[in-house]
Amino acid sequence: EKLIIAIDGPSGAGKSTLSKALAKQFDYLNIDTGAMYRSVALLVQQQGIALDDEGALQELCKDLSIRFIRHQDSEQVIVNGVDVSAQIRTPEVSLLTAKVAASQVVREAMVKQQREMGAEGGVVLEGRDIGTVVFPDAEVKFFLQATAEERGRRRYEELMAKGSDVNLEQTIIEVKARDAADMARTHAPLTQAEDAVVIDSTRLSIAEVLDEMSTIVRK
Ligand code: C5P
Repeated sequence: EKLIIAIDGPSGAGKSTLSKALAKQFDYLNIDTGAMYRSVALLVQQQGIALDDEGALQELCKDLSIRFIRHQDSEQVIVNGVDVSAQIRTPEVSLLTAKVAASQVVREAMVKQQREMGAEGGVVLEGRDIGTVVFPDAEVKFFLQATAEERGRRRYEELMAKGSDVNLEQTIIEVKARDAADMARTHAPLTQAEDAVVIDSTRLSIAEVLDEMSTIVRK
Protein backbone atom coordinates (compact mmCIF):
# COMPACT_ATOMS: atom_id res chain seq x y z
CA GLU A 1 0.00 0.00 0.00
CA LYS A 2 1.33 3.43 -0.98
CA LEU A 3 0.71 5.90 1.81
CA ILE A 4 0.50 9.65 2.13
CA ILE A 5 2.80 10.83 4.91
CA ALA A 6 2.41 14.39 6.20
CA ILE A 7 5.19 16.12 8.13
CA ASP A 8 4.56 19.52 9.69
CA GLY A 9 6.33 21.60 12.28
CA PRO A 10 8.29 24.80 12.88
CA SER A 11 11.50 25.58 11.02
CA GLY A 12 14.56 23.96 12.50
CA ALA A 13 12.75 20.95 13.96
CA GLY A 14 14.36 18.65 11.38
CA LYS A 15 11.49 18.35 8.89
CA SER A 16 13.51 18.47 5.69
CA THR A 17 16.24 16.10 6.86
CA LEU A 18 13.72 13.60 8.16
CA SER A 19 11.26 13.77 5.29
CA LYS A 20 14.11 13.15 2.83
CA ALA A 21 15.40 10.24 4.91
CA LEU A 22 11.94 8.74 5.32
CA ALA A 23 11.18 9.07 1.59
CA LYS A 24 14.46 7.37 0.78
CA GLN A 25 13.78 4.52 3.17
CA PHE A 26 10.36 3.76 1.69
CA ASP A 27 11.31 4.77 -1.86
CA TYR A 28 8.63 7.46 -1.80
CA LEU A 29 8.61 10.84 -3.52
CA ASN A 30 9.56 13.67 -1.18
CA ILE A 31 7.63 16.89 -1.72
CA ASP A 32 9.19 19.91 -0.04
CA THR A 33 6.27 22.36 -0.11
CA GLY A 34 8.43 25.18 1.31
CA ALA A 35 10.59 24.82 -1.83
CA MET A 36 7.44 25.29 -3.91
CA TYR A 37 6.59 28.61 -2.22
CA ARG A 38 10.26 29.59 -2.51
CA SER A 39 10.17 28.82 -6.24
CA VAL A 40 7.16 31.08 -6.76
CA ALA A 41 8.98 33.82 -4.83
CA LEU A 42 12.07 33.42 -7.03
CA LEU A 43 10.00 33.89 -10.18
CA VAL A 44 8.16 36.85 -8.65
CA GLN A 45 11.58 38.40 -7.99
CA GLN A 46 12.97 37.60 -11.44
CA GLN A 47 9.90 38.82 -13.28
CA GLY A 48 9.37 41.88 -11.09
CA ILE A 49 5.77 40.95 -10.27
CA ALA A 50 3.98 43.13 -7.71
CA LEU A 51 2.66 41.16 -4.73
CA ASP A 52 -0.81 42.66 -5.08
CA ASP A 53 -1.07 41.80 -8.78
CA GLU A 54 -3.31 38.75 -8.41
CA GLY A 55 -3.74 38.30 -12.14
CA ALA A 56 0.01 38.06 -12.71
CA LEU A 57 0.45 35.71 -9.73
CA GLN A 58 -2.32 33.47 -11.02
CA GLU A 59 -0.75 33.42 -14.49
CA LEU A 60 2.66 32.59 -13.00
CA CYS A 61 1.28 29.70 -10.93
CA LYS A 62 -0.77 28.32 -13.82
CA ASP A 63 2.31 27.81 -15.99
CA LEU A 64 4.52 26.64 -13.16
CA SER A 65 6.11 23.21 -13.36
CA ILE A 66 7.96 22.08 -10.23
CA ARG A 67 9.81 18.76 -10.11
CA PHE A 68 11.87 17.17 -7.36
CA ILE A 69 14.80 14.95 -8.25
CA ARG A 70 16.39 12.84 -5.56
CA HIS A 71 20.10 12.13 -5.59
CA GLN A 72 22.28 10.07 -3.28
CA ASP A 73 22.53 12.76 -0.62
CA SER A 74 20.98 15.85 -2.10
CA GLU A 75 17.81 16.94 -3.82
CA GLN A 76 17.30 19.10 -6.88
CA VAL A 77 14.37 21.45 -7.42
CA ILE A 78 13.62 21.98 -11.10
CA VAL A 79 11.32 24.88 -11.98
CA ASN A 80 10.17 25.24 -15.57
CA GLY A 81 13.13 23.10 -16.56
CA VAL A 82 15.75 25.10 -14.63
CA ASP A 83 17.64 23.89 -11.55
CA VAL A 84 16.87 26.52 -8.88
CA SER A 85 18.06 24.49 -5.85
CA ALA A 86 20.62 27.08 -4.72
CA GLN A 87 18.79 30.23 -5.84
CA ILE A 88 15.69 29.53 -3.73
CA ARG A 89 17.77 29.42 -0.49
CA THR A 90 19.21 32.94 -0.55
CA PRO A 91 18.20 35.28 2.33
CA GLU A 92 16.43 37.62 -0.15
CA VAL A 93 14.26 34.82 -1.51
CA SER A 94 13.56 33.53 2.01
CA LEU A 95 12.23 36.95 3.02
CA LEU A 96 10.13 37.32 -0.12
CA THR A 97 8.73 33.79 0.30
CA ALA A 98 6.97 34.65 3.55
CA LYS A 99 5.12 37.44 1.69
CA VAL A 100 4.38 35.38 -1.40
CA ALA A 101 3.05 32.52 0.75
CA ALA A 102 0.50 34.95 2.24
CA SER A 103 -1.18 35.34 -1.16
CA GLN A 104 -4.41 33.37 -1.33
CA VAL A 105 -4.06 32.98 -5.10
CA VAL A 106 -0.62 31.42 -4.69
CA ARG A 107 -1.71 29.13 -1.83
CA GLU A 108 -4.70 27.80 -3.76
CA ALA A 109 -2.52 27.00 -6.77
CA MET A 110 0.19 25.32 -4.67
CA VAL A 111 -2.25 23.28 -2.60
CA LYS A 112 -3.87 22.08 -5.83
CA GLN A 113 -0.48 21.01 -7.25
CA GLN A 114 0.44 19.29 -3.97
CA ARG A 115 -2.82 17.32 -3.99
CA GLU A 116 -2.23 16.26 -7.58
CA MET A 117 1.34 15.19 -6.89
CA GLY A 118 0.32 13.22 -3.81
CA ALA A 119 -2.99 11.76 -4.97
CA GLU A 120 -1.59 8.32 -5.82
CA GLY A 121 0.16 7.95 -2.48
CA GLY A 122 3.78 6.91 -2.06
CA VAL A 123 4.69 10.44 -0.97
CA VAL A 124 6.11 12.30 1.98
CA LEU A 125 4.95 15.92 2.04
CA GLU A 126 6.73 18.37 4.28
CA GLY A 127 5.40 21.81 5.25
CA ARG A 128 3.21 23.75 7.68
CA ASP A 129 -0.33 22.89 6.59
CA ILE A 130 -0.04 19.38 5.15
CA GLY A 131 -1.92 17.44 7.82
CA THR A 132 -4.47 20.21 8.38
CA VAL A 133 -5.21 21.61 4.90
CA VAL A 134 -3.50 19.79 2.04
CA PHE A 135 -4.16 16.19 3.10
CA PRO A 136 -6.39 16.14 6.20
CA ASP A 137 -7.00 12.44 5.45
CA ALA A 138 -3.32 11.46 5.19
CA GLU A 139 -2.71 7.96 6.59
CA VAL A 140 0.26 9.09 8.68
CA LYS A 141 0.78 12.55 10.17
CA PHE A 142 3.78 13.75 12.09
CA PHE A 143 4.32 17.02 13.89
CA LEU A 144 8.01 17.56 14.58
CA GLN A 145 8.87 19.74 17.51
CA ALA A 146 12.02 20.89 19.33
CA THR A 147 12.64 23.71 21.79
CA ALA A 148 13.48 27.14 20.34
CA GLU A 149 16.87 26.92 22.09
CA GLU A 150 17.71 23.63 20.40
CA ARG A 151 16.46 24.78 16.98
CA GLY A 152 18.47 27.97 17.38
CA ARG A 153 21.55 25.95 18.30
CA ARG A 154 21.15 23.74 15.20
CA ARG A 155 20.75 26.77 12.97
CA TYR A 156 23.79 28.39 14.59
CA GLU A 157 25.92 25.32 13.92
CA GLU A 158 24.71 25.14 10.34
CA LEU A 159 25.68 28.79 9.79
CA MET A 160 29.03 28.32 11.54
CA ALA A 161 29.80 25.38 9.26
CA LYS A 162 29.17 27.67 6.31
CA GLY A 163 31.71 30.10 7.72
CA SER A 164 29.19 32.79 8.71
CA ASP A 165 29.89 35.17 11.57
CA VAL A 166 26.96 34.44 13.91
CA ASN A 167 25.98 34.68 17.54
CA LEU A 168 24.13 31.89 19.36
CA GLU A 169 21.92 34.12 21.55
CA GLN A 170 20.96 36.23 18.54
CA THR A 171 20.10 33.13 16.49
CA ILE A 172 17.82 31.85 19.26
CA ILE A 173 16.08 35.23 19.45
CA GLU A 174 15.48 35.06 15.69
CA VAL A 175 14.01 31.58 15.93
CA LYS A 176 11.58 32.74 18.63
CA ALA A 177 10.58 35.79 16.57
CA ARG A 178 9.88 33.54 13.58
CA ASP A 179 7.79 31.18 15.75
CA ALA A 180 5.66 34.10 16.91
CA ALA A 181 5.14 35.27 13.32
CA ASP A 182 4.32 31.72 12.15
CA MET A 183 1.68 31.31 14.83
CA ALA A 184 0.14 34.75 14.33
CA ARG A 185 -0.26 34.64 10.57
CA THR A 186 -3.64 33.97 9.06
CA HIS A 187 -2.48 31.93 6.07
CA ALA A 188 -1.28 28.44 6.94
CA PRO A 189 -0.94 29.14 10.65
CA LEU A 190 1.30 26.58 12.22
CA THR A 191 -1.09 24.33 14.09
CA GLN A 192 -0.83 20.62 14.63
CA ALA A 193 -3.50 18.29 13.34
CA GLU A 194 -5.41 16.63 16.19
CA ASP A 195 -4.46 13.21 14.91
CA ALA A 196 -0.77 13.98 14.33
CA VAL A 197 1.93 12.04 16.13
CA VAL A 198 4.02 14.66 17.92
CA ILE A 199 7.73 13.95 18.09
CA ASP A 200 9.99 16.20 20.13
CA SER A 201 13.49 15.90 18.70
CA THR A 202 15.19 18.15 21.26
CA ARG A 203 17.16 15.32 22.85
CA LEU A 204 17.10 12.86 19.96
CA SER A 205 19.53 12.24 17.13
CA ILE A 206 18.35 12.19 13.51
CA ALA A 207 18.75 8.39 13.49
CA GLU A 208 16.58 8.04 16.60
CA VAL A 209 13.79 10.22 15.21
CA LEU A 210 13.93 8.40 11.86
CA ASP A 211 13.68 5.10 13.66
CA GLU A 212 10.63 6.24 15.61
CA MET A 213 8.96 7.58 12.47
CA SER A 214 9.53 4.50 10.34
CA THR A 215 8.22 2.25 13.11
CA ILE A 216 4.99 4.26 13.09
CA VAL A 217 4.74 4.18 9.27
CA ARG A 218 5.12 0.38 9.24
CA LYS A 219 2.27 -0.14 11.72
O1 C5P B 1 10.13 25.30 5.01
P1 C5P B 1 10.71 26.52 4.37
O2 C5P B 1 11.51 27.38 5.30
O3 C5P B 1 11.47 26.23 3.11
O4 C5P B 1 9.45 27.40 3.94
C1 C5P B 1 9.63 28.62 3.28
C2 C5P B 1 8.45 29.56 3.55
O5 C5P B 1 7.24 29.06 2.99
C3 C5P B 1 8.17 29.82 5.02
O6 C5P B 1 8.03 31.22 5.18
C4 C5P B 1 6.88 29.12 5.31
O7 C5P B 1 6.12 29.80 6.22
C5 C5P B 1 6.19 29.06 3.94
N1 C5P B 1 5.43 27.82 3.79
C6 C5P B 1 4.04 27.88 3.81
N2 C5P B 1 3.31 26.73 3.67
C7 C5P B 1 3.94 25.53 3.51
C8 C5P B 1 5.35 25.46 3.49
C9 C5P B 1 6.07 26.63 3.64
O8 C5P B 1 3.47 28.95 3.96
N3 C5P B 1 3.21 24.42 3.36
